[in-house]
Amino acid sequence: MPKSYSSPRGIKDILAPSSRDRRNLISAFEKEAALAGYKEIVLPVFEEFGVFARVGESTEIVQKQMYDFYDKDERHMVLRPESTAGVMRAYIQHRPTTPWKVWYEGAHFRYEKPQAGRFRQFHQLGVEVLGTSDLAADVEVIALGWRFLDAAGTNPKLLVNSLGDVKSRSEYTKDLEKYFKGHIKGLSEQSQQTLKLNPLRVLDSKDQQDFPIIEQAPMLSDFLSQEETEHFDGVCQGLSDLGIAFTADPRLVRGLDYYTRTAFEYESQNLESSQSAVGGGGRYDGLSEDLGGPACAGVGFAIGTDRTMLAMQESPSAVSDLDVFIADVAGGRAAMLIAEELRSAGISTDRAFENRSLKAQMKLADRSGAQLALIIGEDELAADSVSLIELRRKDSQPEKSRQDLIPRNQLLDEIQKRLQKTGKNENKA
Ligand code: AMP
Repeated sequence: MPKSYSSPRGIKDILAPSSRDRRNLISAFEKEAALAGYKEIVLPVFEEFGVFARVGESTEIVQKQMYDFYDKDERHMVLRPESTAGVMRAYIQHRPTTPWKVWYEGAHFRYEKPQAGRFRQFHQLGVEVLGTSDLAADVEVIALGWRFLDAAGTNPKLLVNSLGDVKSRSEYTKDLEKYFKGHIKGLSEQSQQTLKLNPLRVLDSKDQQDFPIIEQAPMLSDFLSQEETEHFDGVCQGLSDLGIAFTADPRLVRGLDYYTRTAFEYESQNLESSQSAVGGGGRYDGLSEDLGGPACAGVGFAIGTDRTMLAMQESPSAVSDLDVFIADVAGGRAAMLIAEELRSAGISTDRAFENRSLKAQMKLADRSGAQLALIIGEDELAADSVSLIELRRKDSQPEKSRQDLIPRNQLLDEIQKRLQKTGKNENKA
Protein backbone atom coordinates (compact mmCIF):
# COMPACT_ATOMS: atom_id res chain seq x y z
CA MET A 1 0.00 0.00 0.00
CA PRO A 2 1.42 3.43 -0.90
CA LYS A 3 1.86 5.83 2.02
CA SER A 4 -1.02 8.23 2.55
CA TYR A 5 -0.36 11.86 3.44
CA SER A 6 -1.67 14.63 5.65
CA SER A 7 -0.99 18.33 5.25
CA PRO A 8 2.33 19.38 6.86
CA ARG A 9 2.32 20.01 10.61
CA GLY A 10 0.86 23.39 11.52
CA ILE A 11 -0.66 23.85 8.07
CA LYS A 12 -4.32 23.38 7.44
CA ASP A 13 -6.57 22.94 4.45
CA ILE A 14 -9.39 25.44 4.28
CA LEU A 15 -12.54 23.78 3.02
CA ALA A 16 -16.03 25.16 2.41
CA PRO A 17 -17.81 26.84 4.08
CA SER A 18 -14.69 28.41 5.73
CA SER A 19 -13.10 29.00 2.34
CA ARG A 20 -16.14 30.99 1.28
CA ASP A 21 -16.18 33.01 4.50
CA ARG A 22 -12.50 33.73 3.97
CA ARG A 23 -13.17 34.88 0.40
CA ASN A 24 -15.98 37.16 1.66
CA LEU A 25 -13.65 38.62 4.28
CA ILE A 26 -11.03 39.39 1.65
CA SER A 27 -13.70 41.02 -0.56
CA ALA A 28 -14.84 43.18 2.36
CA PHE A 29 -11.22 44.20 2.92
CA GLU A 30 -10.69 44.96 -0.75
CA LYS A 31 -13.76 47.21 -0.73
CA GLU A 32 -12.59 49.03 2.39
CA ALA A 33 -9.11 49.54 0.90
CA ALA A 34 -10.44 50.65 -2.49
CA LEU A 35 -12.71 53.20 -0.80
CA ALA A 36 -9.57 54.84 0.57
CA GLY A 37 -7.66 54.71 -2.73
CA TYR A 38 -5.45 51.64 -2.19
CA LYS A 39 -4.57 49.40 -5.14
CA GLU A 40 -3.77 45.72 -4.94
CA ILE A 41 -0.20 44.46 -5.13
CA VAL A 42 0.53 40.78 -5.75
CA LEU A 43 3.98 39.92 -4.43
CA PRO A 44 6.16 36.85 -4.87
CA VAL A 45 5.66 34.19 -2.22
CA PHE A 46 9.43 33.84 -1.86
CA GLU A 47 12.20 36.40 -2.00
CA GLU A 48 15.94 36.55 -1.50
CA PHE A 49 16.93 36.03 2.12
CA GLY A 50 18.37 39.55 2.40
CA VAL A 51 14.95 41.16 1.89
CA PHE A 52 13.76 39.74 5.19
CA ALA A 53 16.98 39.75 7.15
CA ARG A 54 16.23 43.38 8.09
CA VAL A 55 12.80 42.47 9.41
CA GLY A 56 14.67 41.96 12.64
CA GLU A 57 17.94 40.21 13.14
CA SER A 58 17.14 40.04 16.83
CA THR A 59 13.61 38.75 16.39
CA GLU A 60 12.34 35.22 16.52
CA ILE A 61 10.96 35.62 13.02
CA VAL A 62 14.45 35.90 11.55
CA GLN A 63 16.29 33.85 14.15
CA LYS A 64 14.17 30.75 14.21
CA GLN A 65 11.09 31.02 12.05
CA MET A 66 12.31 31.52 8.51
CA TYR A 67 11.36 28.89 5.98
CA ASP A 68 14.56 29.40 4.02
CA PHE A 69 16.18 27.24 1.39
CA TYR A 70 18.84 27.30 -1.31
CA ASP A 71 17.53 27.05 -4.86
CA LYS A 72 19.19 25.10 -7.63
CA ASP A 73 21.56 28.02 -8.27
CA GLU A 74 22.52 28.10 -4.59
CA ARG A 75 20.63 31.35 -4.02
CA HIS A 76 19.43 31.78 -0.44
CA MET A 77 15.64 32.18 -0.54
CA VAL A 78 12.87 32.60 2.04
CA LEU A 79 9.15 31.87 1.96
CA ARG A 80 7.82 35.28 3.00
CA PRO A 81 7.16 35.57 6.75
CA GLU A 82 5.47 38.96 6.24
CA SER A 83 4.93 41.41 3.38
CA THR A 84 6.10 44.87 4.38
CA ALA A 85 9.70 44.14 3.38
CA GLY A 86 8.46 42.70 0.06
CA VAL A 87 6.38 45.83 -0.64
CA MET A 88 9.43 47.97 0.11
CA ARG A 89 11.60 45.82 -2.15
CA ALA A 90 9.00 46.28 -4.94
CA TYR A 91 8.93 50.04 -4.35
CA ILE A 92 12.71 50.31 -4.63
CA GLN A 93 12.66 48.19 -7.78
CA HIS A 94 9.79 50.00 -9.60
CA ARG A 95 9.88 53.51 -8.09
CA PRO A 96 6.16 54.28 -8.45
CA THR A 97 5.02 57.83 -7.76
CA THR A 98 4.30 58.55 -4.13
CA PRO A 99 2.33 58.41 -2.00
CA TRP A 100 2.08 54.81 -3.10
CA LYS A 101 -0.93 53.15 -1.46
CA VAL A 102 -1.20 49.39 -1.81
CA TRP A 103 -3.07 46.48 -0.25
CA TYR A 104 -2.28 42.79 -0.37
CA GLU A 105 -3.55 39.43 0.77
CA GLY A 106 -1.88 36.07 0.76
CA ALA A 107 -0.16 33.16 2.45
CA HIS A 108 2.78 33.78 4.78
CA PHE A 109 5.07 31.27 6.44
CA ARG A 110 6.71 31.03 9.84
CA TYR A 111 8.21 27.98 11.46
CA GLU A 112 6.37 28.40 14.75
CA LYS A 113 5.15 25.96 17.35
CA PRO A 114 1.65 25.18 16.07
CA GLN A 115 -1.18 25.94 18.49
CA ALA A 116 -4.69 27.36 18.46
CA GLY A 117 -4.67 30.40 16.16
CA ARG A 118 -0.98 29.94 15.30
CA PHE A 119 -0.07 28.15 12.10
CA ARG A 120 3.01 27.65 9.97
CA GLN A 121 1.19 28.80 6.87
CA PHE A 122 -1.23 31.60 7.66
CA HIS A 123 -2.85 34.41 5.73
CA GLN A 124 -2.42 38.11 6.14
CA LEU A 125 -4.10 41.06 4.56
CA GLY A 126 -2.60 44.48 4.86
CA VAL A 127 -2.00 47.95 3.50
CA GLU A 128 1.10 50.09 3.14
CA VAL A 129 1.45 53.81 2.36
CA LEU A 130 4.91 54.67 1.07
CA GLY A 131 6.47 58.05 0.51
CA THR A 132 4.94 60.25 3.20
CA SER A 133 5.76 60.93 6.81
CA ASP A 134 2.52 62.89 7.30
CA LEU A 135 0.84 61.68 10.47
CA ALA A 136 -2.48 61.81 8.61
CA ALA A 137 -1.30 58.66 6.81
CA ASP A 138 -0.80 56.91 10.17
CA VAL A 139 -4.34 57.89 11.16
CA GLU A 140 -5.80 56.79 7.81
CA VAL A 141 -4.08 53.39 7.99
CA ILE A 142 -5.02 52.72 11.62
CA ALA A 143 -8.63 53.78 10.98
CA LEU A 144 -8.91 51.57 7.90
CA GLY A 145 -7.86 48.45 9.79
CA TRP A 146 -10.06 49.32 12.72
CA ARG A 147 -13.15 49.88 10.55
CA PHE A 148 -12.57 46.57 8.77
CA LEU A 149 -12.16 44.59 12.00
CA ASP A 150 -15.13 46.33 13.60
CA ALA A 151 -17.40 45.65 10.61
CA ALA A 152 -16.26 42.00 10.60
CA GLY A 153 -17.60 41.69 14.16
CA THR A 154 -14.27 40.98 15.90
CA ASN A 155 -14.93 43.45 18.74
CA PRO A 156 -11.52 45.09 18.27
CA LYS A 157 -9.43 46.94 20.80
CA LEU A 158 -6.76 49.30 19.55
CA LEU A 159 -3.42 49.83 21.31
CA VAL A 160 -1.03 52.54 20.14
CA ASN A 161 2.45 53.62 21.10
CA SER A 162 5.41 55.52 19.74
CA LEU A 163 8.71 53.70 19.38
CA GLY A 164 10.68 56.85 18.59
CA ASP A 165 13.37 56.91 15.94
CA VAL A 166 16.70 55.16 15.79
CA LYS A 167 18.40 57.71 18.07
CA SER A 168 15.84 57.93 20.84
CA ARG A 169 15.23 54.20 20.73
CA SER A 170 18.88 53.31 21.01
CA GLU A 171 19.25 55.62 24.04
CA TYR A 172 16.18 54.02 25.57
CA THR A 173 17.37 50.52 24.75
CA LYS A 174 20.67 51.16 26.53
CA ASP A 175 18.83 52.40 29.59
CA LEU A 176 16.44 49.47 29.48
CA GLU A 177 19.27 46.98 29.15
CA LYS A 178 20.94 48.44 32.21
CA TYR A 179 17.68 48.20 34.14
CA PHE A 180 16.96 44.59 33.13
CA LYS A 181 20.54 43.54 33.85
CA GLY A 182 20.08 44.93 37.35
CA HIS A 183 17.06 42.61 37.72
CA ILE A 184 18.32 39.67 35.74
CA LYS A 185 17.86 37.11 38.52
CA GLY A 186 14.13 37.84 38.66
CA LEU A 187 13.60 37.42 34.91
CA SER A 188 12.38 34.22 33.29
CA GLU A 189 14.95 32.12 31.47
CA GLN A 190 13.41 33.07 28.13
CA SER A 191 13.64 36.79 28.92
CA GLN A 192 17.25 36.41 30.02
CA GLN A 193 17.96 35.02 26.55
CA THR A 194 15.87 37.73 24.85
CA LEU A 195 17.77 40.40 26.77
CA LYS A 196 21.00 39.35 25.08
CA LEU A 197 19.43 39.87 21.66
CA ASN A 198 17.11 42.80 22.15
CA PRO A 199 16.15 44.34 25.51
CA LEU A 200 13.05 45.93 23.94
CA ARG A 201 11.56 42.52 23.23
CA VAL A 202 11.64 41.64 26.94
CA LEU A 203 8.75 44.11 27.27
CA ASP A 204 6.75 41.75 25.08
CA SER A 205 7.23 38.76 27.41
CA LYS A 206 4.12 36.69 28.08
CA ASP A 207 5.69 35.11 31.18
CA GLN A 208 3.98 36.23 34.41
CA GLN A 209 7.28 35.99 36.27
CA ASP A 210 8.54 38.99 34.26
CA PHE A 211 5.52 41.22 34.78
CA PRO A 212 6.51 43.00 38.04
CA ILE A 213 9.95 43.83 36.61
CA ILE A 214 8.49 45.04 33.31
CA GLU A 215 5.97 47.12 35.23
CA GLN A 216 8.78 49.19 36.81
CA ALA A 217 10.94 49.45 33.67
CA PRO A 218 11.85 52.84 32.21
CA MET A 219 9.42 54.23 29.62
CA LEU A 220 10.26 54.98 26.03
CA SER A 221 7.98 58.01 26.10
CA ASP A 222 10.52 59.72 28.39
CA PHE A 223 13.14 59.42 25.65
CA LEU A 224 11.14 60.79 22.70
CA SER A 225 12.24 64.02 21.03
CA GLN A 226 9.76 66.89 20.86
CA GLU A 227 9.07 66.15 17.20
CA GLU A 228 8.33 62.52 17.93
CA THR A 229 6.05 63.44 20.82
CA GLU A 230 4.17 65.87 18.57
CA HIS A 231 3.80 63.19 15.89
CA PHE A 232 2.40 60.74 18.40
CA ASP A 233 0.06 63.30 19.95
CA GLY A 234 -1.16 64.18 16.45
CA VAL A 235 -1.93 60.55 15.68
CA CYS A 236 -3.86 60.19 18.95
CA GLN A 237 -5.76 63.40 18.24
CA GLY A 238 -6.65 62.19 14.73
CA LEU A 239 -8.01 58.91 16.08
CA SER A 240 -10.08 60.79 18.66
CA ASP A 241 -11.42 63.11 15.94
CA LEU A 242 -12.57 60.04 14.02
CA GLY A 243 -14.27 58.64 17.10
CA ILE A 244 -11.97 55.61 17.28
CA ALA A 245 -11.37 54.48 20.84
CA PHE A 246 -7.78 53.51 21.61
CA THR A 247 -5.49 52.82 24.52
CA ALA A 248 -2.05 54.40 24.58
CA ASP A 249 0.15 51.51 25.72
CA PRO A 250 3.70 52.58 26.54
CA ARG A 251 4.80 48.92 26.75
CA LEU A 252 3.68 48.02 23.24
CA VAL A 253 6.61 46.86 21.13
CA ARG A 254 6.23 44.98 17.90
CA GLY A 255 7.88 41.72 16.89
CA LEU A 256 9.68 43.33 13.96
CA ASP A 257 12.72 45.58 14.25
CA TYR A 258 12.01 48.10 11.54
CA TYR A 259 9.31 50.17 13.23
CA THR A 260 9.86 53.86 14.01
CA ARG A 261 7.48 56.29 15.69
CA THR A 262 3.92 54.94 15.51
CA ALA A 263 3.30 51.31 16.45
CA PHE A 264 -0.13 49.82 16.99
CA GLU A 265 -1.88 46.57 17.53
CA TYR A 266 -5.46 45.38 17.14
CA GLU A 267 -6.67 42.86 19.68
CA SER A 268 -9.97 41.05 19.56
CA GLN A 269 -11.89 41.06 22.80
CA ASN A 270 -13.55 37.85 21.59
CA LEU A 271 -10.29 35.87 21.80
CA GLU A 272 -8.21 34.40 24.63
CA SER A 273 -5.66 36.94 25.76
CA SER A 274 -2.61 34.87 24.74
CA GLN A 275 -3.72 34.80 21.10
CA SER A 276 -5.82 37.96 21.03
CA ALA A 277 -3.70 39.94 18.56
CA VAL A 278 -5.48 40.02 15.22
CA GLY A 279 -3.17 42.48 13.56
CA GLY A 280 -0.69 45.25 13.97
CA GLY A 281 1.57 47.66 12.23
CA GLY A 282 3.34 50.95 12.37
CA ARG A 283 5.70 53.34 10.70
CA TYR A 284 9.01 52.16 9.24
CA ASP A 285 10.79 55.26 7.98
CA GLY A 286 14.27 53.70 7.75
CA LEU A 287 13.40 50.43 6.05
CA SER A 288 13.93 51.63 2.48
CA GLU A 289 17.52 52.67 3.18
CA ASP A 290 18.12 49.40 5.01
CA LEU A 291 17.15 47.62 1.81
CA GLY A 292 19.48 49.73 -0.32
CA GLY A 293 16.79 52.17 -1.47
CA PRO A 294 16.30 55.95 -1.30
CA ALA A 295 14.93 57.62 1.82
CA CYS A 296 11.24 56.72 1.83
CA ALA A 297 8.87 56.89 4.77
CA GLY A 298 6.18 54.27 5.15
CA VAL A 299 3.34 53.13 7.36
CA GLY A 300 1.11 50.06 7.23
CA PHE A 301 -0.45 47.11 8.98
CA ALA A 302 -0.93 43.37 8.60
CA ILE A 303 -4.03 41.61 9.85
CA GLY A 304 -4.15 37.83 10.25
CA THR A 305 -7.04 36.47 8.19
CA ASP A 306 -7.18 33.15 10.05
CA ARG A 307 -7.13 34.85 13.46
CA THR A 308 -9.76 37.37 12.34
CA MET A 309 -12.05 34.55 11.33
CA LEU A 310 -11.62 32.94 14.75
CA ALA A 311 -12.53 36.28 16.30
CA MET A 312 -15.68 36.88 14.28
CA GLN A 313 -18.45 36.52 16.78
CA GLU A 314 -21.30 35.87 14.44
CA SER A 315 -20.75 32.47 13.03
CA PRO A 316 -21.12 32.92 9.31
CA SER A 317 -24.50 31.93 7.93
CA ALA A 318 -24.85 28.60 6.23
CA VAL A 319 -26.78 30.14 3.35
CA SER A 320 -26.05 28.40 0.08
CA ASP A 321 -24.98 30.29 -3.01
CA LEU A 322 -26.66 27.77 -5.25
CA ASP A 323 -29.75 28.70 -7.29
CA VAL A 324 -30.61 25.49 -9.10
CA PHE A 325 -29.91 21.78 -8.74
CA ILE A 326 -30.70 19.45 -11.61
CA ALA A 327 -31.77 15.85 -11.07
CA ASP A 328 -31.69 14.01 -14.39
CA VAL A 329 -32.80 10.38 -14.52
CA ALA A 330 -33.02 10.29 -18.30
CA GLY A 331 -29.38 9.79 -19.17
CA GLY A 332 -27.83 13.11 -18.12
CA ARG A 333 -27.60 14.88 -21.47
CA ALA A 334 -30.42 17.32 -20.62
CA ALA A 335 -28.72 18.11 -17.30
CA MET A 336 -25.52 18.90 -19.18
CA LEU A 337 -27.24 21.25 -21.65
CA ILE A 338 -29.50 23.00 -19.14
CA ALA A 339 -26.67 23.48 -16.62
CA GLU A 340 -24.59 25.17 -19.32
CA GLU A 341 -27.49 27.40 -20.40
CA LEU A 342 -28.33 28.49 -16.84
CA ARG A 343 -24.71 29.13 -15.90
CA SER A 344 -24.26 31.29 -19.03
CA ALA A 345 -27.25 33.32 -17.85
CA GLY A 346 -25.57 33.90 -14.47
CA ILE A 347 -27.66 31.37 -12.52
CA SER A 348 -25.55 29.17 -10.26
CA THR A 349 -26.32 25.58 -11.07
CA ASP A 350 -25.16 22.18 -9.94
CA ARG A 351 -26.21 18.68 -10.98
CA ALA A 352 -25.93 15.07 -9.97
CA PHE A 353 -23.61 12.65 -11.75
CA GLU A 354 -23.64 8.91 -12.38
CA ASN A 355 -27.30 8.56 -13.28
CA ARG A 356 -28.35 7.69 -9.76
CA SER A 357 -31.95 7.10 -8.62
CA LEU A 358 -34.33 10.05 -8.39
CA LYS A 359 -34.45 9.62 -4.62
CA ALA A 360 -30.66 9.80 -4.35
CA GLN A 361 -30.48 12.82 -6.65
CA MET A 362 -33.22 14.66 -4.75
CA LYS A 363 -31.34 14.05 -1.51
CA LEU A 364 -28.31 15.73 -3.08
CA ALA A 365 -30.53 18.60 -4.27
CA ASP A 366 -31.77 19.11 -0.74
CA ARG A 367 -28.28 19.00 0.74
CA SER A 368 -26.97 21.46 -1.86
CA GLY A 369 -29.07 24.26 -0.37
CA ALA A 370 -30.35 25.25 -3.84
CA GLN A 371 -33.52 27.30 -4.17
CA LEU A 372 -34.93 25.30 -7.06
CA ALA A 373 -34.68 21.71 -8.21
CA LEU A 374 -35.26 20.63 -11.80
CA ILE A 375 -36.27 17.07 -12.53
CA ILE A 376 -35.81 15.46 -15.91
CA GLY A 377 -37.26 11.99 -16.45
CA GLU A 378 -38.46 10.14 -19.53
CA ASP A 379 -41.92 11.81 -19.26
CA GLU A 380 -40.40 15.28 -19.19
CA LEU A 381 -38.11 14.47 -22.11
CA ALA A 382 -41.07 13.21 -24.14
CA ALA A 383 -43.03 16.41 -23.41
CA ASP A 384 -39.97 18.62 -24.07
CA SER A 385 -40.45 19.97 -20.56
CA VAL A 386 -38.80 20.04 -17.14
CA SER A 387 -40.36 19.62 -13.69
CA LEU A 388 -39.54 22.44 -11.28
CA ILE A 389 -39.79 22.41 -7.47
CA GLU A 390 -39.22 25.31 -5.10
CA LEU A 391 -37.17 23.52 -2.47
CA ARG A 392 -37.19 26.27 0.14
CA ARG A 393 -40.93 27.01 0.02
CA LYS A 394 -42.35 26.89 3.49
CA ASP A 395 -45.60 24.98 3.14
CA SER A 396 -46.76 21.59 4.14
CA GLN A 397 -47.65 20.32 0.68
CA PRO A 398 -45.68 17.23 -0.27
CA GLU A 399 -42.95 17.92 -2.81
CA LYS A 400 -44.63 15.84 -5.48
CA SER A 401 -47.74 18.06 -5.60
CA ARG A 402 -45.57 21.19 -5.74
CA GLN A 403 -43.97 20.17 -9.01
CA ASP A 404 -44.75 22.33 -12.01
CA LEU A 405 -44.18 21.14 -15.52
CA ILE A 406 -42.43 23.91 -17.46
CA PRO A 407 -42.00 23.81 -21.25
CA ARG A 408 -38.33 23.66 -22.11
CA ASN A 409 -38.37 26.94 -24.10
CA GLN A 410 -39.84 28.84 -21.13
CA LEU A 411 -37.53 27.38 -18.54
CA LEU A 412 -35.00 30.20 -18.26
CA ASP A 413 -37.73 32.87 -17.90
CA GLU A 414 -39.57 30.82 -15.33
CA ILE A 415 -36.42 30.20 -13.26
CA GLN A 416 -35.56 33.89 -13.28
CA LYS A 417 -39.09 34.74 -12.16
CA ARG A 418 -39.00 32.22 -9.32
CA LEU A 419 -35.57 33.32 -8.14
CA GLN A 420 -36.73 36.93 -8.05
CA LYS A 421 -39.70 35.87 -5.98
CA THR A 422 -37.43 34.29 -3.38
CA GLY A 423 -35.61 37.63 -3.25
CA LYS A 424 -32.31 35.94 -3.86
CA ASN A 425 -31.65 37.02 -7.38
CA GLU A 426 -32.81 40.58 -7.55
CA ASN A 427 -29.80 41.53 -9.61
CA LYS A 428 -29.99 38.72 -12.07
CA ALA A 429 -32.19 39.53 -15.03
P1 AMP B 1 2.88 40.24 12.70
O1 AMP B 1 3.27 40.27 11.26
O2 AMP B 1 3.70 39.30 13.52
O3 AMP B 1 2.70 41.60 13.28
O4 AMP B 1 1.42 39.57 12.74
C1 AMP B 1 0.25 40.25 12.33
C2 AMP B 1 -0.92 39.34 12.52
O5 AMP B 1 -0.78 38.16 11.72
C3 AMP B 1 -1.07 38.79 13.93
O6 AMP B 1 -1.76 39.70 14.74
C4 AMP B 1 -1.85 37.52 13.70
O7 AMP B 1 -3.23 37.80 13.55
C5 AMP B 1 -1.32 37.05 12.36
N1 AMP B 1 -0.29 36.02 12.56
C6 AMP B 1 1.05 36.18 12.74
N2 AMP B 1 1.67 34.99 12.85
C7 AMP B 1 0.71 34.05 12.74
C8 AMP B 1 0.69 32.61 12.77
N3 AMP B 1 1.80 31.92 12.93
N4 AMP B 1 -0.51 31.98 12.62
C9 AMP B 1 -1.65 32.68 12.46
N5 AMP B 1 -1.70 34.01 12.41
C10 AMP B 1 -0.55 34.70 12.55
